[in-house]
Amino acid sequence: MKHKCPICKVETDSAVHADFPFCSERCRDRDLGNWASEKYVVSEPVFDEEDLAEGKGDSIVLPLDDDLENPNDPEH
Ligand SMILES: [Zn+2]
Repeated sequence: MKHKCPICKVETDSAVHADFPFCSERCRDRDLGNWASEKYVVSEPVFDEEDLAEGKGDSIVLPLDDDLENPNDPEH
């Protein structure tokens, strides 16, 4: 059975190449690496990061303002 290496497009033969359909172990590892990096991209949505940054900024600024103004009121 003949095929082409998905990485470097060299012709491979299932009777000759142990890493068929890849021409070599290096190309097989490279293909596995491609799949792994694609999975990482899918599992990390970008919009989640923006939502967290916005929420933190609001909740940190407001409480600090209240703490600074309240102690001054009873003295007057
Ligand atoms: Zn190859």
